[in-house]
Amino acid sequence: MLIKFFDAENKSSFYQWLKKLEKHRFYKKELKSLSQKATPLGKLSSLSMLSRKEIDKILVNDKKISYVMRMRNQVSSEMVNIPLSKKDFEGLIIFEKDKFEKIGVNSQDIASVIFFPLQHVIPMSLALQRLGAIYIPFEGDEEKVFFDVINNKISFLVTTPSRVSKLIDFVKKTKLKSSLRLINTGGQKIKDYHFFKMKVKKYLGADLVDNIGSSELQNFAIHCREHEQYHFVSKDQIVEVIDPETKSISDKGELVITPLWRKDFPLVRYKTRDIVKLIKSKKCSCGFADPRVIKGIEGRLDQMIKLNGVLLPIYQIHQKLLKLWTEQIVILDNLIWKYRDSPKLCLVVQEKRRKDELFIFITKKRSAFFRRKNLLVKFCQKEFYLTPEVRVIEYNVFNKLFLESMLIDLRLKVNKMVNQKAIKKLINV
Ligand SMILES: [Zn+2]
Repeated sequence: MLIKFFDAENKSSFYQWLKKLEKHRFYKKELKSLSQKATPLGKLSSLSMLSRKEIDKILVNDKKISYVMRMRNQVSSEMVNIPLSKKDFEGLIIFEKDKFEKIGVNSQDIASVIFFPLQHVIPMSLALQRLGAIYIPFEGDEEKVFFDVINNKISFLVTTPSRVSKLIDFVKKTKLKSSLRLINTGGQKIKDYHFFKMKVKKYLGADLVDNIGSSELQNFAIHCREHEQYHFVSKDQIVEVIDPETKSISDKGELVITPLWRKDFPLVRYKTRDIVKLIKSKKCSCGFADPRVIKGIEGRLDQMIKLNGVLLPIYQIHQKLLKLWTEQIVILDNLIWKYRDSPKLCLVVQEKRRKDELFIFITKKRSAFFRRKNLLVKFCQKEFYLTPEVRVIEYNVFNKLFLESMLIDLRLKVNKMVNQKAIKKLINV
């Protein structure tokens, strides 16, 4: 089974989408070669996944290009153009409109999108107008834009979490009163969602809804209004979580997305490179049909790290280290081991006297395991060419400081989302 969930609404748009794909120059042959007995979903799951490198093949189409999304290739840093036909663009506006409607935007709202990539601002502004809201664009420096947001009585705002933090500072400083009632953020990880949401309510008087997306796909997940979880958007897109090694469905793996609103220039089973982990969902009344929920993006599949001049793939190494550690715990503790809290692991890198230093922070405090850390050390010596320091810490400390990150690089410039001071304190114990 490709996905565990498939609702009726999704089904009809999927069938329409597949019909169109059967005529697509690139997919026609592949789909025709499949058995007559194959189910529509079976057909989709037999198509190969599309990677960023192969994105050019969606350009093979007779349709006229009407809009172009742009994205930077992380490896070559060249710009990649992803075209949309007029119909695809219309599909994108409707996709955005549905999202805004779902999070509670209405025709009474005065809306704006500030400090966001222009390629998203354009379809968003159109979607908001379709909902009957008034849309006002703003430009200029930060203070001027913030002043305009308040002065024009904006009630719904889309921006990044860090701009929201700055808007809060602005309001505190100027003592101006915002008319905001709802803020939709995206593009950055929020360190403490609950705390941030409270702050937004306190100083701006608005509710907060964060969503996760990417430059070529818009949003694929929206934060729950009630609990610490993100819902997948199932309407007009098919979401799969695929183990990068086995290529099969998994609870942890790469997010693979098929946006059904793209028909003329389809992205079929598009590999996002984002790693997610499904968590146990908490009952809520958000109205999202897909039961699968995530806590956020765990990391990037192609994220590399340079240690003392050597470039290394962080995801693979992290997974191997975690496996080494987990297996040791299970072997030693198989009788009392309950899979209640699975171990967590985070790599921390810092620079000292022009040399990179590696730290491994790991949960599960059991004295017997300390001896087993030699295994991790040996693995790191082989893979990283340096000797790490292994620190076993408590769950709550880990959750507070490491956000379930795979890697924290203290060599980078100040990252607001990471409490560098507290981590450095742990390192220097
Ligand atoms: Zn919910």
